[in-house]
Amino acid sequence: MKLRIIKETLRQIKYNEVMPELPEVETIVRCLRPHLSGLQVRSVRLLFPPIVRDPGRFPLKKLIGRWISGLRRRGKMILLDFSGGVTLIVHLKMTGQLLFCRQSKPPDKHTHFILGFSRPQRELRFRDVRKFGFIRAVRTAEAERTREISLLGPEPLELNRTAFLECLRGRRGRLKGLLLNQRVLAGIGNIYADEILYEAGLHPRTDVSHLGRLRLETLYAAISKVLEEAIVFKGTTVRDFRDGFGLEGLFQNRLCVYGRDGEACLRCGSRIKRIRLSGRSTHFCPRCQRRRV
Ligand SMILES: [Zn+2]
Repeated sequence: MKLRIIKETLRQIKYNEVMPELPEVETIVRCLRPHLSGLQVRSVRLLFPPIVRDPGRFPLKKLIGRWISGLRRRGKMILLDFSGGVTLIVHLKMTGQLLFCRQSKPPDKHTHFILGFSRPQRELRFRDVRKFGFIRAVRTAEAERTREISLLGPEPLELNRTAFLECLRGRRGRLKGLLLNQRVLAGIGNIYADEILYEAGLHPRTDVSHLGRLRLETLYAAISKVLEEAIVFKGTTVRDFRDGFGLEGLFQNRLCVYGRDGEACLRCGSRIKRIRLSGRSTHFCPRCQRRRV
């Protein structure tokens, strides 16, 4: 019984480190885009005002009457563009969800913001149990200059190999920390950093400055492969992630190292290890990902 409680506590700690990353946010955007584009906002309901950043800059009521002209992702954030050059930046943080629900379904106590539309009988709800997420309305032209977006590095799936090598040139630091650093590459978090390094056969403690061109190219290929595959499988649901219609992702069934500590490596059979690195749980195979330096 005691062991089960300890195990559960560890699991909670682990879950607390999980937030929607690039594939999960991309899944939400792709799922909602065809349904939201062109809808006109009829009502704005703010049930928990502290989730709005910088509320004086652009009052949310001014969204009424505007059409949704686009939905896009930048790093781990969702950007909802409206007619008249207004953008709503949404960060889901750990437990945030953006759900396209039927109006007839009553919102629960964790729903903090609701956009109502003229048709169909649906509304867009921002739901967040832990309340770490936020929304912020800005002029579209200013979105890139906000503090949330201006410091982000490039999108990993938009970089070609040459640009990727250029992006890492002269950098130092352990690979795990480097992949988590949003100023270097935007969108990768704890789950995919571990999966990418496993795919590349690189130890998370290896310093990036010690990697030759070949290994950097292997890392580049691993980033693209893991992130693209995770998008195809609609993201990873460890606990809270849901797409725009409340459905779970499927990539959790394809994880090779994340959350598999103590289990056998799918390639060599060694036990997957978990260590603490850059303040986060880090999972790797000690045999397939030998430390080189
Ligand atoms: Zn292995």
